[in-house]
Amino acid sequence: MSTPIQLTPRRPVPGSSAPQGPPSTMRVPFHVLAKPTGPICNLDCEYCFFLSKESLYPGDRFRMADDLLEEYLRQFIGSQPDGEVTVAWQGGEPTLMGVDFFRRAVEMAEGIRRPGQRLQHTIQTNGTLLTDEWCELLARHRFLVGISIDGPPELHDRYRVDKRGGPTSDKVLRGLRLLQAHGVDVNVLCTVHAANQNRPLDVYRYFRDELGITFIQFIPIVERENETGFQEGDTVTDRSVDPVAWGTFLEAVFDEWVVRDVGTVFVQMFDGALASWCDLPSSMCIFRETCGDALALEHNGDLYSCDHFVEPDHLLGNITTTTMVELVASPKQKAFGQAKADTLPAMCRTCDVRFACNGECPRNRFTLTPDGESGLNYLCAGYLSFFTHIDGPMKLMAGLLRDGRYADEIRGVFAAAGRNEPCPCGSGRKAKACHGQR
Ligand code: SF4
Ligand code: SF4
Repeated sequence: MSTPIQLTPRRPVPGSSAPQGPPSTMRVPFHVLAKPTGPICNLDCEYCFFLSKESLYPGDRFRMADDLLEEYLRQFIGSQPDGEVTVAWQGGEPTLMGVDFFRRAVEMAEGIRRPGQRLQHTIQTNGTLLTDEWCELLARHRFLVGISIDGPPELHDRYRVDKRGGPTSDKVLRGLRLLQAHGVDVNVLCTVHAANQNRPLDVYRYFRDELGITFIQFIPIVERENETGFQEGDTVTDRSVDPVAWGTFLEAVFDEWVVRDVGTVFVQMFDGALASWCDLPSSMCIFRETCGDALALEHNGDLYSCDHFVEPDHLLGNITTTTMVELVASPKQKAFGQAKADTLPAMCRTCDVRFACNGECPRNRFTLTPDGESGLNYLCAGYLSFFTHIDGPMKLMAGLLRDGRYADEIRGVFAAAGRNEPCPCGSGRKAKACHGQR
């Protein structure tokens, strides 16, 4: 979970909000997702790519020891510039470590940080093990909690099942309510797959209207069909999202969001896109030209190039023998990040929406272009459609921000358009058939 530059809440373009600190030659920010339980989880979600990773560490207990915890925090926090530093926990299911582990982690981190640093603690969880004690800790230290929900229970329970194959939505919703009762900041992470891909508005309205969620991330499930669990092969399981349906899903949610929810509901995908229309780097690594500054730390100190490439070829080393800073700056990691740009097929390099898409994540680049070049993103059809679809409204919002106004003023622009006037988005259609009042 990366920390987004938020453009859509009532805030102008952040010109001076970059972290203040030493010159960048001294400390270069990077992100780490720490996995204190490795891939171990109390659930058995059918599409989860982490579960197969147990085979990387046969016989392991998969628990981060306290001395490694301290070593990690010292190296990571010490390497980061002044300003906000995100300390991010993920799994598997990190709450399996127990609340005392995180109490110690927060105390250690607070003891390590420099006066000019502010810690933003984040944790990604399935929510099923949360208790009042957990939520008190999360609220006290202002954690941003990502909770995985795939929509209304009948959609969520299709693949997000427990070890006996049973539904999990009741337990997840109990966890969510506890978080909300304690005033914890919650971000819903919703994976989009074969079971919910055709229900975009049911999913979005459920989060907004029934759960009261104001921060949402949509993640496409692209699950390779192979025995290794690694990013290999060119076929996907039937649980995977269909590329065209992925685009249609995003477009349907966007169309509702842009006329009524800009500024009140934060959708990471849309905010990331708006950054691209404002000529800023996207807040999402998948849409940037290069990557390589978001790494994954295993429970034993092994550092991998990315959370989606926890596999032997992408192991950089162990932070107890080589420092994290050296591993991040290593030629191997530099090459990993640069390859995102260097391996783009010609079709992407000449694509009209490349500035926003950049070929998305290399993990999904396993199909052929129409003229047979390898390395096209499996989701290309969806992204091409989506980024083209949002061009008009994005230009409007980017224009507002450049004028020192607010992105959410777009709602008023659309509302003011006469039903039979041309839509302000520039589509050429009448407003009533586009973003205006129907
Ligand atoms: S491989 Fe994909 S998810 Fe990983 S850092 Fe690069 S773009 Fe981001
Ligand atoms: S939309 Fe398709 S062709 Fe265009 S940059 Fe993205 S993946 Fe490449």
